[in-house]
Amino acid sequence: MTERSKKMLTELDKRAQPAFIGFLSRLDAVLGDDQYIVFEGRRTPAVQSAYFAQGRQPLEEVNRLRQEAGLWLIRSQNDNRVITWTLQSKHIEGLAMDVLPVDGRGNPTWDLAHFRMQFEHIRNCGRAIGLICGADWLSPQADWPHYEIK
Ligand SMILES: [Zn+2]
Repeated sequence: MTERSKKMLTELDKRAQPAFIGFLSRLDAVLGDDQYIVFEGRRTPAVQSAYFAQGRQPLEEVNRLRQEAGLWLIRSQNDNRVITWTLQSKHIEGLAMDVLPVDGRGNPTWDLAHFRMQFEHIRNCGRAIGLICGADWLSPQADWPHYEIK
């Protein structure tokens, strides 16, 4: 397990830690710890507000909120789509993690079209542990990287 993963596990709510330790241990065994990245775990309300503004508010407002939340600034081409559907995310409570596969260069990827199999391997591990998998959501739409406890 990478140091990044361990740090993100410690930031989770105590109720969520056993399931996510099981999940990441399974990913280590099935894929190897260099084949996935825990992109995000616990999220502050400020970060959630900035994410919620993305695709809904003008870029200047999105970046003002991102700066307040300690996030990097985004360019206009990244502000054209909604990335979250709620201000009440399980991430704020420390009950969720976003896990991404890595591309050929070891960087996290959101490219479901090209990395479908890797996304499915990760989802299968999440299902095996009994996590709620965003990949299984139909409404408002699937959120492949997202996992939360029941
Ligand atoms: Zn998520």
